[in-house]
Amino acid sequence: MKKESVRNRLNEILNQAPDLKRIFLSADSIQSKKIKIRKFLSGMLMATFEDNPTIPPLEWVLTRDAIGVFRTILSSRSERLAGFSFLKYINSLLNNPDFDSLPRPRAGFFAELEHLIRGVVGKTGIYPEKIPAFTKYEGRKAAKLRSSELSRMAATTRKFIDRYPSGLDKNIIRKRSFNKARVLKYFGATELEWEQWKWHTRHIIRDVGTLSELIKLTPEEYQAVQLARQYKIPFGITPYYLSLMDYSPEEGNDLGVRAQVIPSLHYIEQMNRMRDSKECSMDFMLERDTSPIEGITRRYPNIVILKPIVTCPQICVYCQRNWEIEDVHSPHAAMTRDKLHKAVEWIADTPEINEVLITGGDPLLLSNANLERLLARLAQIKHVERIRIGTRMLVTLPQRITDSLIRAINHYHHPGRREIMIVTHFENSYEITPQAMGAVQKFRRYGIDVYNQLVYTVFNSRKFEASALRLKLRLIGVTPYYTFNTKGKEETDDFRVPIARLLQEQKEEARLLPGSVRTDEIVFNVPGLGKNYLRATQHHDIISILPDGCRMYEFHPWEKKLELVDTYIYTDVSIHEYLKKLKSLGERRANYKTIWYYY
Ligand code: SF4
Repeated sequence: MKKESVRNRLNEILNQAPDLKRIFLSADSIQSKKIKIRKFLSGMLMATFEDNPTIPPLEWVLTRDAIGVFRTILSSRSERLAGFSFLKYINSLLNNPDFDSLPRPRAGFFAELEHLIRGVVGKTGIYPEKIPAFTKYEGRKAAKLRSSELSRMAATTRKFIDRYPSGLDKNIIRKRSFNKARVLKYFGATELEWEQWKWHTRHIIRDVGTLSELIKLTPEEYQAVQLARQYKIPFGITPYYLSLMDYSPEEGNDLGVRAQVIPSLHYIEQMNRMRDSKECSMDFMLERDTSPIEGITRRYPNIVILKPIVTCPQICVYCQRNWEIEDVHSPHAAMTRDKLHKAVEWIADTPEINEVLITGGDPLLLSNANLERLLARLAQIKHVERIRIGTRMLVTLPQRITDSLIRAINHYHHPGRREIMIVTHFENSYEITPQAMGAVQKFRRYGIDVYNQLVYTVFNSRKFEASALRLKLRLIGVTPYYTFNTKGKEETDDFRVPIARLLQEQKEEARLLPGSVRTDEIVFNVPGLGKNYLRATQHHDIISILPDGCRMYEFHPWEKKLELVDTYIYTDVSIHEYLKKLKSLGERRANYKTIWYYY
């Protein structure tokens, strides 16, 4: 963008706030501009609390929030933490003759600035001009009008939710039976073999030749899978999960299913680059720094993660443990008996630990006997009151949930003494099938609860998409538990969703569901620190907006009032770029217009 165009655009934005524009264009020093902008913001803030008639009702909340963000961004502390001064940057773009030495502002930067200023001056325009009719009446008349208004809202919600088919829909069940027949024919297998989980693990699809004979791939998918094999990047899909994919990507329903296991070229290139340069940033969660003994991760006072096996029957592209998963269903991935024994002894010697999350990898890849041996040993430890089993097998291979497995697990589930719970990972409603429901119900029949952790990615973040999943999960007996922000791992950039979208989804979509359905908490699993509750604004701050339109956040540790622990600085993805991705998936930007006002 040329100098004149940049300046014209900035002037256009600042026209929303003439006082602010005057300050920016004055010949004052940067320090004096900062002081004047602060005064201006304080004045605006006071006005919001004084019932300013120029700010429409309800807008004042947005104004208060936007002013808070602007003030934080201006602070010297934020500038130091971000290593960037938002104020100096805008000032230089407007007034500095040395314009060419500055990084060019991207469209996302202008969009952020424009919405921030609109927020500050109470001109977001997100509320309709007309006040709802029911507010003018009382009693039955008001109730009837309100009821019609709520029906209209419910109908809109339903229209969105109906866009996302589930694997329980009759036509999808029929489609899947054809898919299954195609897979069975390809492998020359029988219906009986299909029901045996070990048949599936013996026939995991690991190469592009087999995959492209079973489903139609886009040229990019083909190339990425081919390169995955060449670069030895873990890749694999179970025949069952493959049967959830439509034959052709043009059918348009299985995007979320494909994207989870078929990597993008960007992912393959990044993974290859990082492995070559031996960067350990792949361990984004800094598990190496939170592991007191091999196989154990500890981030909380009472809970530990135990990883008896670090492989899975198929590989999720965005897996946070991709740094330690060597291959799909790898024969060398289980801990040796000796090491596992030492890890369990460490738990036995640490009386503060009340809860053990057995994960990996997928621990249900262990044989029943090995799993039962581990559960039996943990059950002998008096201070372990809860054992969580983290598994995706209900989604990737529900045939694994056999009656004998359930009996082995149930044996250690003693109400009042020790709870065993299952935590699984459905990503979208298309994954919910009669087989998956059957697997969930087997656990539920024995009183074992099943919870879901959703990783919120571009491929399940469309309007009401997560709501469609939550509703179906509850119907099959799964309780939504956590919704995770995607990690800031470079190789998974294609998946990342801005934090503002998680907040928007909670307020504008999840909120419309009954409380018994929207039971999940939105969190950012902060590297080295653990879960940060995104809904709690006091747990994070925006400290800058960068020239590429990305927001920078400072995350506070969960134990900040208890211990002195450092904060974590995080660069989010640009909202503008995210909206562009949604548009390429056929979404209307207008449906997401309030996203800018979530911080
Ligand atoms: S199931 Fe979990 S551990 Fe396994 S690949 Fe997927 S995200 Fe990673």
